[in-house]
Parts: sequence; structure tokens; C-alpha cells
Amino acid sequence: MSDLVVWQTPLHTRFRGLNVREGALIRGERGWGEWSPFREYGTAEVEPWLRCAEEAAAGDWPEPIRSEVPVNVTVPATDPQRAHAIVAQGGCRTAKVKVAERGQTLADDIARIEAVRDALGAGGLIRVDANGGWDVDQAVTAIAALDRAAGGLEYVEQPTKSVEELAETRRRVEVPIAADESIRRAEDPYRVRDLEAADIAVLKVQPLGGVRACLRIAEEIGLPVVVSSALETTLGLAAGVALAAALPELPHACGLATGQLLVDDLVRDRLLPRDGMLPVRRADELLVDRELLAEVTAPLERQHWWATRLAEVYAFRDAVAASGGGVRDDRR
Ligand SMILES: [Mg+2]
Repeated sequence: MSDLVVWQTPLHTRFRGLNVREGALIRGERGWGEWSPFREYGTAEVEPWLRCAEEAAAGDWPEPIRSEVPVNVTVPATDPQRAHAIVAQGGCRTAKVKVAERGQTLADDIARIEAVRDALGAGGLIRVDANGGWDVDQAVTAIAALDRAAGGLEYVEQPTKSVEELAETRRRVEVPIAADESIRRAEDPYRVRDLEAADIAVLKVQPLGGVRACLRIAEEIGLPVVVSSALETTLGLAAGVALAAALPELPHACGLATGQLLVDDLVRDRLLPRDGMLPVRRADELLVDRELLAEVTAPLERQHWWATRLAEVYAFRDAVAASGGGVRDDRR
């Protein structure tokens, strides 16, 4: 195998506008690291994703302080029957439901939430993720309606786009607010803290530059953390689990059960939840299976695309170094 392999797997349900997930693995001293930034992201944005892969491939994860982490089942913006089935099969006590999907209505969201509550039973927790799909007034209306439909929401993730809108929404609703895009796609992830725009920080290891970088952000931001995936294979998910396992406190279930959304994977022993928990794995325990890899290896044209993308990131790093700057390693 070369030091860069490119894989593709179908999704069971369309998610984030995707029917197929594609990414790369890079090889380091201790094994493979997943590098799977989404296709539309530019060179500067995918650089921290590569740092995360390099950290994993070097086997450089912090010591875990727990041996398993609680996770939520993720429900795409699908119809109520399918939502019900996903939660019933998911085996988790917490469900995260996508809402505010373009082309759908609040009534669609309410029906989906009611189906999820029915499948989960009275004791489970429901959180929703709007991916910035509302303005402030829409958010206030929708959150009240969804809170009622759910019989109480655990929190609402990224109801609006900007940090300012997030802060305003937070002042107008009772349901706790979680920031996701406002941290991982922001110039300054600490504005969420400075504007008191959220109650919870959603951290994703790839966009934020790896497990150790996220631990520093968690400490600086001073909010409870929910670790979430970027729709990764088991290799990428394991990095998220490594972060969740190393955080001093973990009061909420994490969004790391998304292995369920992918048809194929790269290791035999997939990271799938059992009784709502994922086991913690060391980087060197993640053995890429050659047979599985052969089944999911992407067409040559896509391999060339990723090799070019990788070369562009290296060139970007050189340019930053040559200009006297350093690539931010903790997003400060
Ligand atoms: Mg999100």
C-alpha cells in the first residue's frame, strides 16, 4: 500500500446532501490516520484535518481517563417512519435529530421529533441540530414548537448561522444552545465564549486539528463539550473517541455513533454503539483490513484528486512557513 489511500462508501441514508462518503488515509509511524475533509473545502480549511490524521498516524493520542463513551444515535432529516426505525435500531438513550433542512417545513421537523420520542421512550434525551438553518425569529418559534413535540429538548445545536445571532437566540429561549459551525468554521472559535453565545461546545477533531488541539480548545473555551464526528469511518471516529475519553468531564453523550450511517468501513471491528456506548481504542489497535480496503478503494481519478489536494496542503504549509507565520496549531 502507498502512503495515501482513497476510499468511498455509500451511505444508508442521504446525509449532509451526500449519498457517498469519500476520504483518504495517510500512513505514519504507528499506522493510518483518516483525512476526510469534505470535497468543497479549500486548502487552508483542510490543513487542520490533515494535522488530525498525522497525529493519529503517529499514534500521538493522550492517555484516556475512561474506557467507553456514551453516544447518541443520529437521525437525518428523513421521514417519520425511517426516523423511528433508526432510533429503534440505534440502541442509544440519546438521539440527535437533524432539523431545518432546506425544502422541508417545521411540520416535517415536528413529525420527525414525535416519531423519535415514540421510539426512544419517555426516558431518552432528544437534541436537535439546525446547522444554522434559521434566523433568530424562526429559531425562537421553532425551538418552542420542537421543545413541546419532544417533551423537552436536551439542547439545540447551531440554530442560527452567526455567533451574534446565536447569542441573541440564547437570550430568547430556555433550551440550552450548542455551538458547532460557530467553533469549527470560525476565524476565532473563542468568540462563542466571549459573546456568551452557547451553553455547550461541539468539538470535531478533524476540522479543529486533532485530539490534543481540541483538548486545549476545550480548556480555553470553558464550556461542557460534546465530541461529534465528521461522518468518518472507524479510523476517524476513533480519534473523536480518544478526545472524549481524555476530557476531564463528559456530561453529555457524544455524536460519534455515525459509523451506522456508512455502508462500508476499513476495519473489521467497527466502532458501533453497544447499549449506547463506544469502546475506547488506542491508535495502534486500529488495523486497516486489506480486503475491506480493496472493496472500497476509489477510482484512479479520485486518487489523483486527493494526491493533488495533499500536495496543495504541503505547499500551503511551506508558503505559510516561508512568510514567517506558523500554521495555527491551537487555533489561537
Ligand atoms: Mg452540527
